[in-house]
Amino acid sequence: MFGGCYSGFADRKLYIKNKIEIITKYIPRKYQQIPKEENFLCGIIGYIGKEKRALPVLLSGLKKLEYRGYDSAGIAVFGEDKDFLVKSVGQIVNLEKKVEHLDSGNLGIGHTRWATHGVPDEKNSHPHRSGSITLVHNGILENYMELKQKLIADGVSFESDTDSEVGAALLDYLYYKTGDMMKAIMEFKKMVKGSYAIAFILKGLEDRIFVIKNLSPLVIGFGIDECYVASDIHAILDKTKKYVTLEDGEFAIVKSEGIELYDYDGEHREHEIKEYDGAFADSDKGEFEHFMLKEIYDEPEVIKTILMKYVTDQGYVNLPDLSNYKNITIVACGSAWHAGLVGKYLFEKNLHIPVTVELASEFKYKSSFLNEGDLVIAISQSGETADTLAAIKIASSLGAHTLGIVNVKESSIAREVDEVIYTLAGSEIAVATTKAYLAQSTILFLMSVKDKLEKDEYKQMVKVPLVIEKMINERAVYKELADVIYEHDDVFFIGRLIDYAICLEGSLKLKEISYIHSEAYAAGELKHGTISLIREGTPVISVITDEKIRDKTISNIKEVKSRGAFVILIVSERCNVIGDFYDKKVIIPKEMVGLEAIISSIPLQLIAYEVARLRNCSIDKPRNLAKSVTVE
Ligand code: GLU
Repeated sequence: MFGGCYSGFADRKLYIKNKIEIITKYIPRKYQQIPKEENFLCGIIGYIGKEKRALPVLLSGLKKLEYRGYDSAGIAVFGEDKDFLVKSVGQIVNLEKKVEHLDSGNLGIGHTRWATHGVPDEKNSHPHRSGSITLVHNGILENYMELKQKLIADGVSFESDTDSEVGAALLDYLYYKTGDMMKAIMEFKKMVKGSYAIAFILKGLEDRIFVIKNLSPLVIGFGIDECYVASDIHAILDKTKKYVTLEDGEFAIVKSEGIELYDYDGEHREHEIKEYDGAFADSDKGEFEHFMLKEIYDEPEVIKTILMKYVTDQGYVNLPDLSNYKNITIVACGSAWHAGLVGKYLFEKNLHIPVTVELASEFKYKSSFLNEGDLVIAISQSGETADTLAAIKIASSLGAHTLGIVNVKESSIAREVDEVIYTLAGSEIAVATTKAYLAQSTILFLMSVKDKLEKDEYKQMVKVPLVIEKMINERAVYKELADVIYEHDDVFFIGRLIDYAICLEGSLKLKEISYIHSEAYAAGELKHGTISLIREGTPVISVITDEKIRDKTISNIKEVKSRGAFVILIVSERCNVIGDFYDKKVIIPKEMVGLEAIISSIPLQLIAYEVARLRNCSIDKPRNLAKSVTVE
């Protein structure tokens, strides 16, 4: 049995009356508001149609959502005399095995969970069933504990430790209270604080899926006599390109023949069905051992696509002109924040505009000095990074002009900003970003180009993808370097200015996928503390791509070398280094037209990959990480 059940009340009316009293009396008013914080996680999928296709559609949708990261999965399928609910910990294949003997129905919901409340086990996996409600949820119901206590006091019992089951129980309760699911949903929205994309099925009305959205993404897709629900359009793109994106506060009743959409106040709202024109999610890694490797091999093509789209063959750059801004703020998280730092060095050097790069999670809470008309750039691969989305909302409310650099079309950030630039990296499945980060940095580089690229620069630049391809193909080089590193406990990265930004990303990549502790330092900072950690054989990777600071960084390298470090130098051919102050060297060819630093992140990605491979790590899905998970 799943879900809550009622006990201790012989009389249902009394039970309902009690619940009304308890909830209206004890739920603090402050929790009856739409929250300001955003959290969304992992994936939900739903199907309703005339054919009995729910089971295969749900399984295929869940597999397409896998890249977002998850620890367990589950489905509930309904149909003529059919009603089964199956959950499983770990990979979707485990779930598949459990349902292979079952016949499909025509209605169902599915979920990939990334646990926030309660360990990843079967009882905590979704769907959750409480009374007449079977529900899947992405996000966090922040005031679930108070709601749960009230419901428990009122005789509802729970099987899981999740916030989501409380959502199911509350909907069940409110439905009995009002006798009308529309009213119950309106009440639910008032009472629940937090983020949610919810899809649920109501017992007795198995011709529809109810969906509610607040701060977590949710789309509805339209086929012929069938509809889909998904937290990500890519989960259903092989079925339909016609879709509607739900806005915060909206809810919908989804039937096979179409949807009824309701706004924040419960008023019926017309909806316009859109046609998706982005690329299909490429969830096939082909001959590659890992998605990460495939995505690194995609990088030359990504650069080519960006150049074709954003640079004319006369060398004009078709990207927003930043020269009129006095200040620029970049907000981002993780690797996108590192790309932002690359942008800072480039904008300050080439455009002479001061740039502040903020961690979106900090930006939300610190004092803001934004003025009306300032530019705020948000960088995010998924376009769903909750902290970045929240930062953009704050920036807009302060009158800033917002520009998004995102990879996923129609994502929340893409829709929220005043202007959006797509990075055109194609779908990225590996949790640790490679090609999307490279695309972000390349776009920032192009935005820093004043006026236009000179004819010969442009001619040179179109050759960059070929040069990169050659670099990537030299896998033996990276394997050899990985051999030196993979048994060490600590690795250091040092560089100055833009090279330091590249080091930060190289270090993160290594940590993320190989679990080796690593730190990136501005090369000049080393002697102010960290140099004490350098011992005989400690690997130190140094990046030098700027001739002007070459000698300064070389001095810092010599400092670590003389303390026993094993130095791997990633250096631009242009920098012309001589001397025996390093142990191994990777050369970034000179035909890079200003992209040297950015391109030097590719060897760092490949080194991290080969190290993680030698250490037998789960490269595409590193432990505890998820691609689209954003919790504050
Ligand atoms: N907070 C819910 C849980 O822990 C949902 C997590 C998710 O979005 O996967 O079950």
